[in-house]
Amino acid sequence: MFICRDVVENIMDYIDNELDLKTLQALEKHTGECPECKAFVDTYRRMLDLSGKMKEQTFVTPEVRERLKNLLKSRMKPC
Ligand SMILES: [Zn+2]
Repeated sequence: MFICRDVVENIMDYIDNELDLKTLQALEKHTGECPECKAFVDTYRRMLDLSGKMKEQTFVTPEVRERLKNLLKSRMKPC
């Protein structure tokens, strides 16, 4: 079963479209049913957009991504 923690763990690959189909479907099913995770994905995507991901891929380093992930994870309620 796909749980909120899995969404956090897979968020980066999800944004980069690097998930395999099975994981992708499970994640989208979960975000469709879980408002917390939907908000999490939206927020993450927006933060990456703001930091210029679309224009300059290289700007968002793995370190930046990790920081974003940890920031969002710390805000997320465990469920
Ligand atoms: Zn969730």
